[in-house]
Amino acid sequence: MHCTILGDFELTVISDGTYFLDGGGFFGVVPKTLWSKRVTADDQNRVAVGLNSLLVRTGKQNVLIETGMGSKLSEKMVRIYSQPAKLLENLHSAGMAPEGIDIVINTHLHFDHCGWNTVRKNGKIAPTFPRAKYYAPEGEWQYARHPSERDAISFISENYDPLVESGQMTLLKGDEEIVPGISVKTFPGHTAHMQAVIVRSGGRTACYISDLIPTSAHIDLTWGMAFDLYPLQTIESKKRYYAEAIPDRWLTVFTHDPTARWGYVETGENGKLSLARIT
Ligand SMILES: [Zn+2]
Repeated sequence: MHCTILGDFELTVISDGTYFLDGGGFFGVVPKTLWSKRVTADDQNRVAVGLNSLLVRTGKQNVLIETGMGSKLSEKMVRIYSQPAKLLENLHSAGMAPEGIDIVINTHLHFDHCGWNTVRKNGKIAPTFPRAKYYAPEGEWQYARHPSERDAISFISENYDPLVESGQMTLLKGDEEIVPGISVKTFPGHTAHMQAVIVRSGGRTACYISDLIPTSAHIDLTWGMAFDLYPLQTIESKKRYYAEAIPDRWLTVFTHDPTARWGYVETGENGKLSLARIT
């Protein structure tokens, strides 16, 4: 279990499991001769990709940031993405029942980030976390209703539309505090409205940076994913993030890293970025 203390808060990384993506897609324009020094591909050129959610126990609320891939994929999608569906058992191992979650925050609405928002029960869609208030960026939800042909496959409306309709999901305008110490900030690039979640307590900061920096192998400014809709904005958003996160020593949480779930991005003497891991 990956657990740490941040001021008065307890942070636990909860995995929904690992899946496999094409290494070329995962590293965009970066040549394989370079990325294969950091990550090993299998015989189909696929690399292992984690699905890390973050549970924050503030003492007053239990906040779950992101809900993985979930359990509702179609047969075809299961063949492609395997659907590990481990989140609930890993939450249980961390001593948390779905009923114990007070708040769920989605950084964006791609299916591998909000899949456990809902479950299918007796043929009907129900909230996985019945007591929780859910939050997601409004711009994401608007876009998800009419996505481009390029990323339409990434949206499954059952993950959010029933929650918006019932009033259980609140749509966020961006850069706002959700509970004391937990706020969201828009970092465009991967999508136009993706929001990182910033957690502050006792003078320390952690950031769930989501698909802006999906793994520790993507910390360089130009190592973006091919899936990014606005790759030049990814670079500008990374610069804006590092301008605060490096000098203020923010703990960066990596959504899709199967091994290095979090760490501190540092600048070396030659200006090269590196990661100081924590266990
Ligand atoms: Zn995404």
